[in-house]
Parts: sequence; C-alpha cells; structure tokens
Amino acid sequence: MTQLVLKAFKYRIYPTKEQTSFLDRNFGAVRYIWNQFVASFNHNLIGPCLPQDEKFIKDLPGKEFLTEVISYGLQQKRMDWVEFKKQFFSKKRAVKLGRPKFKKKGVSNDSFKIPGQCLKFNSCINFETSRIKLPKMSPIKLVIDRKFSGLLKSVTVSKNKANQYFVSVLVEEPIELKQNTGRSIGIDLGLKDLLICSTGMKISNPRWFRKTQTKLKITQRAFSKKVKDSSRYKQMKLKVARLYLKVTNQRKFIYDNLSTWLVNNYDTIIMESLKVKNMIKNRKLSKSIQDASWSTLIGMVSYKSNWYGKTFHQIDTWFPSSKTCSCCGHKLESLDLSIREWTCPSCNTKHDRDLNASVNILYKGLDDLYSLTSAELADYRCRESVNPKVEIPKVDSLKRLVSFIDFYKTA
Ligand SMILES: [Zn+2]
Repeated sequence: MTQLVLKAFKYRIYPTKEQTSFLDRNFGAVRYIWNQFVASFNHNLIGPCLPQDEKFIKDLPGKEFLTEVISYGLQQKRMDWVEFKKQFFSKKRAVKLGRPKFKKKGVSNDSFKIPGQCLKFNSCINFETSRIKLPKMSPIKLVIDRKFSGLLKSVTVSKNKANQYFVSVLVEEPIELKQNTGRSIGIDLGLKDLLICSTGMKISNPRWFRKTQTKLKITQRAFSKKVKDSSRYKQMKLKVARLYLKVTNQRKFIYDNLSTWLVNNYDTIIMESLKVKNMIKNRKLSKSIQDASWSTLIGMVSYKSNWYGKTFHQIDTWFPSSKTCSCCGHKLESLDLSIREWTCPSCNTKHDRDLNASVNILYKGLDDLYSLTSAELADYRCRESVNPKVEIPKVDSLKRLVSFIDFYKTA
C-alpha cells in the first residue's frame, strides 16, 4: 500500500555575489510587505478606516523597488497574510493566535516562498548540472545530496544567521506503508536519558552532542563580553550562530534517526503529552528541558507514524505514571523527584523510577486505544514482563548511534 505525502528537501545553495545581493533584496521586500500589513492591521484594530489588506499592496508607497524583485514571493506573502487573518479571527481554533509581529532586519529569519506552478513545477531544478532556476535570476549553484521524484509544490529560499543560503523544496511523493511488527512501546522522556523505553532500554544524550553544547556555553559567555557593534563582536556573533546551527543539526540528526527506528520497529508508540510551557516555569529544570526539546521528537514520531501507517498516541498529562506500580497497580501517595528507585509496598517489586513510568505509559496508552479489560491487561503484563537486565546500548558517538539503530532494525 502506498499513500501520497508532502516531503521537504533542503539543499544548500551557493549564490554568487550578484545573486546574493538580489536574494537579500527579495528578503527585504517580503519583510517590508509583511510589516506594512501588520502596521495596517494594528491601525485597523483601533479604528476601521484604512484600505482592505488584499488591495493594500497596490497603494504602498515606494512601489518601484517592489517591482524589481520576484513578484511571486510577494504574492505568496499576501496570501500568507490573508490566511493569518482568517486564522486570527477563527472561532474554531482551540489556541488563539497572538497579535502579528513586525519582522526586524537581522533578527527575524529571512525567507520567501514561490509556489510550484510559478516555477513550471519540476523544471526549475536541474539535477545534472546542479543548478536551480528562479525567476529574474541566472541559475544558482546548489549541492545535491539526495534526489526527489515526486511533484514539486513549492520552493522556499532562506538565509540563516550564519549567512548560509538554502532552498527548501516541498514535494508530493508516494510512500510505502511500513510492515507491521506486532510490537508496541511506551516511552518516558527524561532529562538524564533522552528516552526510557518500556522494553528496558535507555537512550542517553550522545557525548558528542553534550560537547558541542558546552562549547556553545563558553563561546556565548565570551560573546557577551564584547563591545557591541565592534568587529570582534560581529566575528563572535557569527561564531555563536554557527555553533547554534551545529547543535540544532546534531539534535535533528539524533531525533530523525530515533524516530525512524521507532516507526520501523513498533506498530504502536505511546508517549506522554507534555506541557512544556508549565515545566519551563520550574527554573531548576528549565535549561535542560529546552535543550532536550522533546517537542521536536514528538513532532517527528507523530508525522512519521502518520506516513507509514503506524499508531502514535499521547496519554493524559496528569496520569500518575511515576507513582503507580506497573506490576500490581498500587498507587503511591507521593514520590519525590529525587527518588530514582523504590519498592512497591503492596507487591514488593523493586522499581527503577523512569522504567516503571514508561511501562505504565504503555499500559495506559493501550488501554486508551483498545480499552483493555483488567484481565487482559494482567495477561499483557505477564507476557511482556519487563527485564531491566537488558543490555543498555550507549549512544555516545556518531558511529555508535548509527550502528545502534542498525542493530535494532534487525532485532
Ligand atoms: Zn506493586
């Protein structure tokens, strides 16, 4: 079985000096349009006396410089704005959108998007000569690390804070559903270990990942001591941006691999739902929580499960996963965060705090999904009894991470 999904492919581009300045002008024009919309919107909220947004673009002062850039990018921005307004006033949304914000040069991320039909779909990228053709520009050199075959939907050109340019190509591709394995897994997300699985496996932060994080901390401290706008300041700013990028890329690499491994090996994946905002209020833990950025992982597992026909479920935040005994169901009154191991007063089972929680998450999830009766659950408990003696793989190097994922693919 196959299904059509939207996939994004990101390529690094190397524009010439001339092309760079043209792209920068495009970013500027798109930012200008957006800010005009926001200004008019803020004004409108006070008194409804300004022209309609949709026609607004024609009445803008200094229209000449807008005609020099790629018009599709501006049109797309206008469409984005119309969509934003629709969402802003929508009464169906569970979470209300905040007021629109102005984009500031050098602070906001620079990008503009061109719809696929304006680029004659797949004909804008030439894989043989490694060039991408955008309107009003000579072909730009790009690095092709992988090819796509599906229908091109849109191209987004962007620039990051380390002054690197990218194109992100959205493609509609058919993909094969993954084979069923008949296995389910419950996952507890931790701080010391990234994941604690109900199978008894713990996956820790790789060492090379921590190393870059420490480096970032040191560089940031040095950066804060520089005189603002001096040449050293600018140098340091770029250095910090590059390190940030590295951490983000490393995190993405780990999460991408882990999430693929999960959907390859399990049919049902169960996690907690996080209230990250509430947790960050707890100052002691906040830094590490943001570092772990679990929501990235949850997002990846969620969309990959969707793609490959697997089930992803998140249990209620308030479910007492740590305090409940996974063997007999006895619930403790309270369990302090510092206690890592405890013994159940009812059935005398020794528990590892996180492992016990992940097993409970699995049971609760299975109960939510398939509403198991207590007898069935007890049966399930006997069959998939946890063995904490399972050898725990250490993911501490790039090579090891890859080999670890490979090992479990065949397991
Ligand atoms: Zn017990």
